[in-house]
Amino acid sequence: MTHFLPSRLPRVGTTIFTVMSRLAAECGAINLSQGFPDFSPSPYLLDRVTHHMAAGANQYPPMAGVPSLRAAIAEKVQRLYGAGYDAESEVTVTAGATQAIYTAIAACVRPGDEVIVFAPVYDSYVPGIELNGGRAVYAHLRFPGFKPDWDEVRALITPRTRMIIINSPHNPSGSVWSAGDMAMLESLVRDTNIVVVSDEVYEHVVFDQDGAGGTRRHESVTRYPGLRERSFVVSSFGKTYHVTGWKVAYCLAPRELTNEFRKAHQFIVFTVHHPSQLALADFMRERPEFADELAAFYQAKRDFFRQQLAGSRFELLPCAGTYFQLATYAAISDEPDTRFVQRLTREHGVAGIPVSVFNPDGDDRHVIRFCFAKNEATLAAAGERLRAL
Ligand code: PMP
Ligand code: GLN
Repeated sequence: MTHFLPSRLPRVGTTIFTVMSRLAAECGAINLSQGFPDFSPSPYLLDRVTHHMAAGANQYPPMAGVPSLRAAIAEKVQRLYGAGYDAESEVTVTAGATQAIYTAIAACVRPGDEVIVFAPVYDSYVPGIELNGGRAVYAHLRFPGFKPDWDEVRALITPRTRMIIINSPHNPSGSVWSAGDMAMLESLVRDTNIVVVSDEVYEHVVFDQDGAGGTRRHESVTRYPGLRERSFVVSSFGKTYHVTGWKVAYCLAPRELTNEFRKAHQFIVFTVHHPSQLALADFMRERPEFADELAAFYQAKRDFFRQQLAGSRFELLPCAGTYFQLATYAAISDEPDTRFVQRLTREHGVAGIPVSVFNPDGDDRHVIRFCFAKNEATLAAAGERLRAL
């Protein structure tokens, strides 16, 4: 804030992801804080980007995204969830999930509207709501299970509720919503004007629940007709294809909602990096199994990382999806989590994310989030340091 410009976001500082990645770099620590892989994407995917650049795809692509990518997205959603979306009028390519979520909020939320979010809440949602004049209303995913409390949600719905933002698999907790949760949400919004934003960026990273074999499925909003008709469904290629730095994602929504979405999208970003879109379309067509194999790929990393921490004083929470593992450090220290992660980074050389920053009241259960989207050597080195605490 300066003396002549009162801040539109007075309570917001720099994101925890930037803060912790910067500290990790300064300290030369192993960075398990911000969520990104430390391994490379498929060489084939990289080849396709350079191919399309050399072939001349260097000017503006269509505003809503290149047709081949939108068609590949619609095919995937049909194949996985049995949901038909029209590639032309119901699929929009965005500059990351962050922009898709912001755009959906900007397209729908008016000053004074209420938007229900679930805490711990991914850090971009509430600033997006507030920049558009809305008010965030918090439901709680309570420690340690991080499951929704549907009685609480029902009580939070008012005539001013414009939107509910959901996120399963959930960042930061790694919890996954069940079919029963989706049915509850579907029944709560029936006969209302509430729109849903479903952040499904970890749609391909759902693990078997108990480690005993049964694969839990991702309960996409697209499977539930009563939700689908009122939802913006967001996913990100960054998570699925190990390219978080490309910032390419998409938003699915029924035609009327997509119309409103694109009115905002065209003036927020207009369109998205052209050769990356073409390369992703090629990759989805040529390697459809890649996304199907992602859960097993990350489950092996989850299990490896959990083994690394087995002999430590950290206590591991369940992890049903995402590439994040929560751990409590109550047996090691009673410091606030924000202080503990700083000390862990500086003195022990491993960076994580304090979970209290995702809670509106700063509720601190002495839990930190580690990203296990890393090579085994990285996870083993981190494990050695963490076991020494
Ligand atoms: N939502 C969630 C839950 C996320 O974890 C992330 C990024 N890790 C995003 C949205 C943003 O995705 P993108 O990088 O595609 O903007
Ligand atoms: N979503 C990533 C995470 O949870 C970070 C994205 C970002 O840095 N904005 O770590």
